[in-house]
Amino acid sequence: MDTKQEKLRNLPKADVVMDLPVLQEFLASTDRKTALEAVRKSVEEMRQALLAGEDPDVSPEAAAARACAILEEEDKPSLRPVINATGIILHTNLGRARLNRQAAEKAAQIACSYSTLEYDAKEGKRGSRHDHVSRLIAQVTGAEDAIAVNNNAAATLLCLVSLAYKKEVVVSRGELVEIGGSFRVPEIMEQGGTVLKEIGTTNKTHFADYEKAIGPETAALLKVHPSNYRVIGFTEDVPAEQLAQLAHSKGLPLIYDLGSGLLEDLSSYGLDEPTAQKAMAAGADVILFSGDKLLGGPQAGIIAGKKEYIEKMKKHPLARVVRVDKMTLAALEQTLRIYRDPKQAMKNIPVLSMVTKPAAELKETAQGFAAGLAAEGLNAHFGIREDVARVGGGSAPMLDLKTWCVWVKPLGMSVDALQEKLRYWKMPIVARISEDEVLLDLRTLSEGDLVVLRLALIDILE
Ligand SMILES: *Cc1c(COP(=O)(O)O)cnc(C)c1O
Repeated sequence: MDTKQEKLRNLPKADVVMDLPVLQEFLASTDRKTALEAVRKSVEEMRQALLAGEDPDVSPEAAAARACAILEEEDKPSLRPVINATGIILHTNLGRARLNRQAAEKAAQIACSYSTLEYDAKEGKRGSRHDHVSRLIAQVTGAEDAIAVNNNAAATLLCLVSLAYKKEVVVSRGELVEIGGSFRVPEIMEQGGTVLKEIGTTNKTHFADYEKAIGPETAALLKVHPSNYRVIGFTEDVPAEQLAQLAHSKGLPLIYDLGSGLLEDLSSYGLDEPTAQKAMAAGADVILFSGDKLLGGPQAGIIAGKKEYIEKMKKHPLARVVRVDKMTLAALEQTLRIYRDPKQAMKNIPVLSMVTKPAAELKETAQGFAAGLAAEGLNAHFGIREDVARVGGGSAPMLDLKTWCVWVKPLGMSVDALQEKLRYWKMPIVARISEDEVLLDLRTLSEGDLVVLRLALIDILE
């Protein structure tokens, strides 16, 4: 056997490794420099392993195999699809809302061609990029006018800067929310050059608190939907109707940040989120919401409301800073078009169909899927059980959505190992562990996902 010193001296030479057939094959699709770097990296790994007292295979073939693995890993795109088996519908880390396919195709089509982005084809002159969605948003929300910006955080900023720069905005202490770490209402207001007038207490804010707070410096009242939390117990807040009346009696606008942008009333499914239409009907002058939460569209921030306020925002220099891209506009326009027929929306907007799918249907799919896997004779037990899914994305935090899961108990490995193998698979699969089982929640799995999931489980558990 070679001594460690000998092995160190005889580590494979890079050009010898490069000449091996496996690497030559790679050179058809990879440039020489990249391949050489991978070879050097693999030889360096051998050196480090030897120095650490290990006894690695130091043959040129081993170096070549490792170099190929490095090249394959480096060639994987960074942003790629995953399968969400967590049951969290608006999973922030996994890209929030899954887009409707027609909307996605619209975005691709517009991206690959020239378009009427800022062109009025009928008149042969310059058009406005806002027009593609303004009318549709107005139509579905009942607002006079609307614009779409980059996200709801940007919508909040643009709205405050346009309507309340260097003035006061009155907001309840119970609504000074933080959403996902970097978005805090007080900080956005400060950045927007707006003076925050906090009123009431964490659990209770009364009508009289708002009344007292309004003064000559007040530019607007702001109501924020407590998306990702609920204050329960001894609480009080002022409904939008009353706030709107108060604001209007003082000649001020009521701005209402809805967070989630629900367009269909889902209260019969237990969702206590306000709809955009209700907020407008309550008298809000400007409403703000996300495009990729319960609306189920692309990432966007939607601002809808009275024409005089929306006009101000369209003309503000910051509107350019937070403007949306043509792909977003294309996907958003298509998503909103689907909403013109509520039945179509419930069926074809993935977020809505995932929220509203009856548990009995999920149970049936789970049964079929588990039985199919059990028939494969794999190294695991399969079964189904009832569980709780979540809307996620900071929406309806108190809602337990009844759901059904397929559970997997692997025989040849631990549940942690199976969870990791699923994540490492060609198409990463994100699943949760509960009670020594890997759970695959049917609520967030599409038919296509199930096909891939089946292949992955067979591959891993064979
Ligand atoms: C989610 C949310 C935001 C931020 O929206 P993004 O689209 O993520 O920027 C702002 N306000 C409320 C109330 C929210 O729920």
